[in-house]
This record gives sequence, structure tokens and C-alpha cells, in this order.
Amino acid sequence: MEIQWLLVVHGLVTLLVVVSLLCGHWPIFQGTFIERIHYFITFGAYDYFLRFVAVIFGSRGRNCFLAVEHYLCGRPNPILQLLYLSILGVTYFVIVKSSFGYIPGYYVSELHRYTSMLAVGVGVILFLLTSFSDPGTVTAENVSQYISAYPYDNILYVEKECSTCKISKPARSKHCSICDRCVARFDHHCGWMNNCIGEKNTRYFLAFLLWHFLICLYGAVVLGFILVGELKERRIIDILTVYYGVENSFSSLFPYIVQWLLSAYNTQILLIMFLAIVSLLLAGFFGYHAHLCLTNTTTNETFKWQDYISWKRKLNEAKSSAAALKASIHAMNGESKPPKSKWRIFFRRSPLQNEEVVRKNNVYDQGIASNLFEIVFPLSERRSFFCRKSE
Ligand SMILES: [Zn+2]
Ligand SMILES: [Zn+2]
Repeated sequence: MEIQWLLVVHGLVTLLVVVSLLCGHWPIFQGTFIERIHYFITFGAYDYFLRFVAVIFGSRGRNCFLAVEHYLCGRPNPILQLLYLSILGVTYFVIVKSSFGYIPGYYVSELHRYTSMLAVGVGVILFLLTSFSDPGTVTAENVSQYISAYPYDNILYVEKECSTCKISKPARSKHCSICDRCVARFDHHCGWMNNCIGEKNTRYFLAFLLWHFLICLYGAVVLGFILVGELKERRIIDILTVYYGVENSFSSLFPYIVQWLLSAYNTQILLIMFLAIVSLLLAGFFGYHAHLCLTNTTTNETFKWQDYISWKRKLNEAKSSAAALKASIHAMNGESKPPKSKWRIFFRRSPLQNEEVVRKNNVYDQGIASNLFEIVFPLSERRSFFCRKSE
């Protein structure tokens, strides 16, 4: 049973790393080991590694590493695109080699040989569409079209010029330092796509995430059905209960079945685990981006709103503190009204609690249906915009 425990430990460690990486900075994990793991993965490990390189190879080695890092992370390059294609290709190849021999099986029809190929093909098409489509590059020729798409909210966006491109910056656009261009409704720069995600390709990016979540789930479920079919076809339960005298109950049969599957179908078990973990990650990522699209916010704007709200809160706190100080000075100078009862003083609100609540006022949020429509048919591409402009 050692392999089972190894798989359980592997699953738990993967879960811990993923949760720490994605959620370790959340307030509920403050001061816990999950926050420490998050810090180690995101900053600490890199810092230790740089120090280690400097100790072993000296400052020249460190500079050489930083130059390579700049090429890999600071400039457009196809390394992650090639990594995606190789992961997809190798996984599909291993599935074909290890499991197509069981198709058609007890539960899985021959159709799945072709539908799986089609599913992977559509996945690659969505990847190419997201990678090589224009995210909404703002140029001197089309800038007026992008400016008319979104108004300036005067909170996150005010009318100004991009200091690098020397053209007006449309509301919701951002200059991508990796691609060195301004992108309309900028979401983020995606290393896997080697492209920015902006107004015109968010739809392909979302479709890519959803489709890859579905094909991973599809692969895991079909592989699961192949294994259940084998169990049925080889009459394993009958053999165990009749010939080996194992009690015919789930708890008695389960360890034997797991042992049999791990010895005869370990490739399929590993594939199922891999596909299940990747599909969970993709589901989380798709859920996050779908929520952003439904509320008409971009990843870039979530950071901007966080900064704005924390700045506004600090400002309000400072205002309330000043008001509280002023009130206590008046009280000390004897300008206070007749003394209130002890209980009223005890239960009165602290002047610091009188701060106005800071709320996100997203002027671009037009309701779920309209927001979704805007993702599928970007504003700057719509005919009505051209007509309105030419009037
Ligand atoms: Zn720019
Ligand atoms: Zn970019």
C-alpha cells in the first residue's frame, strides 16, 4: 500500500502549494504557515536563489542570470508557448499510447478516439487565436476610436498621454512594458500566450480557459470510465469475492481494487490525477476571469481599485482622527455641553467610527448581460461606434 500513501502525500503537498501560492496573501491566512509558504514561493525563494548564485558565481554570474531572466520575463518570447504545446502534445500522446487500446471498451465507445482529437484541435485553435490576435493595440491612427469606446471615470482614469507612445491614453488602456505598446481595456500580459490580453482578445482567452478546463475534465472522466469498464469486463469483483473470499462490501473491496488498478493501470491513474489537478486550477482561473468579465473589471483594474480604496481609507482615517482631536481639545477647553450619563458616554460611537464607507464605483459595469455582450462584441469593433463617430 506504499504507493497509495505516496499518491495521497503527493496530492496533499500539491494542494498546499497551490493554495499557498494563490490564496496565501488573503487576510484569513495572516500569520499562518500558509502565508509564510506564500512569501517563500513568491519572494523568499527567488531572493535566496539570487544570493546563492552570487556566492557561487560572483557578481558577474548574478548579472548574467538577471540578463537571462530579463529576456525570459521582461521581453516577449515564445518559451511558455512552446511549453504549453509540448505539455498538450506529450499528454495527448501518452493518452493515445496507453489508453486508446482500451477503446472501444465496456463503457467508452469508439467515437471518443475522434472527439478527443477534435477537442485537442479546438484547444490549439483557441490558443493560436489568443496568442496571435490583436489585443487592441492603440496607435495614432485608431486612438480616437478607442477613446470613444469608454469614458474617463476620473477615479482610475483621467485624460492623459502615454509617456512612451506619445499618444492619448484611452480610458482602461495601459502601456504594456513587455510588448512596449498601449493596449485598450488592458487586462494583463500573459506569458503563456506571449501576448497581452485586452479589449479584442479577452473573449478568446476566456474561451481558451473554459475549453481547457472542459477537455481536462473530459479526459479524466473518460479515463475513469475506461478503468471502470476494465473492472467490469475482467470480472474483478467476482474474482475477489468468489475465488479469494473477500467480503462483498465497498470498504472490504476498495483496497484490493485500488491495489489492482495501481499495479495494472498506473499510467492511467497518474493521467487522471494530473488532469484532475490541472482542471481544478483552470476552473479557478476561469471562475476568476468570468467574475471579472461579468462585473466589467479587468485584472489591472482590480489592483488599481485596491490601491485607490486603501488610499481613500487612510485619507478618511486621517480626517476622522483630526476631527476627534479637535473635539477633545474643545472638550478640554470647557466648551463641552452638560455632562452626559456614564452609560451614554460608554455606548457612544467613537468619532473614528464616523468614517464614510469607501465603495468601488465602477462606471463601466452595465449589468451582467451587457458586460458579457461587451466581451463577445468589443465596443470599439461595433458598427454603431463607427456610425456615431462619422456623424
Ligand atoms: Zn504606450
Ligand atoms: Zn504585453
